[in-house]
Amino acid sequence: MRLSSFFMPTLKEVPSEAQIVSHRLMLRAGMIRQASAGIYSWLPLGFRVLKKIEQIVREEQDRAGAQELLMPTIQSADLWKQSGRYEDYGKEMLRIQDRHEREMLYGPTNEELITDIFRSACRSYRDLPKLLYHIQWKFRDEVRPRFGVMRGREFLMKDSYSFDLDYAGAKRAYNKMFVAYLRTFARLGLKAIPMEAEAGPIGGDLSHEFIILAETGESAVFCHRDLPAFDVLESEPDFAADLEPMVRRWTSLYAATDQKHDPGKCPKDQLIEARGIEVGHIFYFGTKYSEPLGAAVSTQDGKPVPVHMGSYGIGVSRLVGAIIEASHDDNGIVWPDAVAPFAVGLVNLKAGDPRTTGTCDDIYAKLRAQGIEVLYDDRDERPGAKFADMDLIGLPWQLVVGPRGLERGQIELKRRRTGEKQELGLEAALSRLAG
Ligand code: ATP
Ligand code: MG
Repeated sequence: MRLSSFFMPTLKEVPSEAQIVSHRLMLRAGMIRQASAGIYSWLPLGFRVLKKIEQIVREEQDRAGAQELLMPTIQSADLWKQSGRYEDYGKEMLRIQDRHEREMLYGPTNEELITDIFRSACRSYRDLPKLLYHIQWKFRDEVRPRFGVMRGREFLMKDSYSFDLDYAGAKRAYNKMFVAYLRTFARLGLKAIPMEAEAGPIGGDLSHEFIILAETGESAVFCHRDLPAFDVLESEPDFAADLEPMVRRWTSLYAATDQKHDPGKCPKDQLIEARGIEVGHIFYFGTKYSEPLGAAVSTQDGKPVPVHMGSYGIGVSRLVGAIIEASHDDNGIVWPDAVAPFAVGLVNLKAGDPRTTGTCDDIYAKLRAQGIEVLYDDRDERPGAKFADMDLIGLPWQLVVGPRGLERGQIELKRRRTGEKQELGLEAALSRLAG
């Protein structure tokens, strides 16, 4: 992509209501625009990141054996009346009337709808287990939408739902999601720590929140000091096998959110007290929805029993902000490689110059031929402005081509994260990026 034609409306000044760094940087880098309070348009740069996160989330759900479907954003109120949540959900739910004066709502979550889909199709224990998910926009009329996409009103969520015959089956599904979540966040370049959590308004008795540690986190969290060093990607789990030992290992050290914190459970000298951002939440809630909605299967001896369910959410759009909170410096965003909107920023220091321009055009063509995503700053701007923009948008690599370097047959390769710069010949630089 050539920056001269890329729609990336960067800002010099940011609105004063942007209180936290990720919100400010997303506005400054031209990733999002506010449409109304807590509701955002995703501009091309932001949208590319959102899609990359979504894709990693999807790959790990698929790997764990979950199947993707897509439910609508608008739901009928009927099912929510059956589950009893139409009243309970309160003002966070956006209620809508259609032209026939039927009560509709913009889904804040999908337990009711998925249970309805399940009950109409599955009647026998032979239909179990089922593990389904979708990635869809949600609406919650938050009292205080703030922090940009971190607490929006409209936001993108991955939500999965499991259906099993009994607790043992539901725990197997829970463990799959537990491990899938660890892998997902690690692949996104994040250290997310599973913490025992209150089950909250969705109910149930087994629940973990996945929390990344960041100063601007909304909740106080507590964990054993050795937990952040655990590495999940060192081996590939077998999702067909029993994952209980792995889940045990990850839950063997103390970690709890504010509501669940018990100072007696971890010696003070081994405890980290920090702020955290919730990026995922998994619940087992038994028959809370299957009972009122009549989602039952017949067992081997022909008796109908309500199915045991769990639900598992990841805040896909919140993650864009959360990753920036975890990975930035004074000059701007520092994208982890896996989610960067482009892998390389190519900077032509002298746009009118035939030699630098020729070299840049050549590099641009070669990188693209190798399938490397590159943003090519071909604008006629001062070098200082170009460097500042590149640092702001945080692409992992910068390739800088100027007349003085070219005299010596050299271009400069900079790693955004470390600031480390290297002078290299053209071919050497290209093979570095390909490798
Ligand atoms: P919170 O306590 O932050 O309000 P929640 O418990 O209401 O979260 P869940 O219902 O478990 O959230 O939703 C699953 C995930 O969706 C959360 O872990 C979070 O990452 C994300 N999420 C929830 N509310 C919002 C929001 N208003 N804006 C962006 N993401 C959100
Ligand atoms: Mg909430």
